[in-house]
Amino acid sequence: MTGDPNNLSCAEFQSQLPDLIGSGQDVSAHPHILRCELCRALLSDLETIADAARQLFPAVEPPDDLWEHIESAIREEDTAPSASKEN
Ligand SMILES: [Zn+2]
Repeated sequence: MTGDPNNLSCAEFQSQLPDLIGSGQDVSAHPHILRCELCRALLSDLETIADAARQLFPAVEPPDDLWEHIESAIREEDTAPSASKEN
């Protein structure tokens, strides 16, 4: 893994894709996308899915801290039973 955006394999690029999209970068201008027809097709599929999701759930905008909420919810589930045992 060199991290050089000009020299990524498809697997490396695709593993970074969620981060690229999540950080709001223009993925369609990524050097790998410009060189790689396969990942261009993948990206356009993802955009189609994202558009469809927005049309299905127009009011739903996942907050930036969504994962933190999920994580703390999991932690609460985890600690609840042991806490009741001590009482
Ligand atoms: Zn590729």
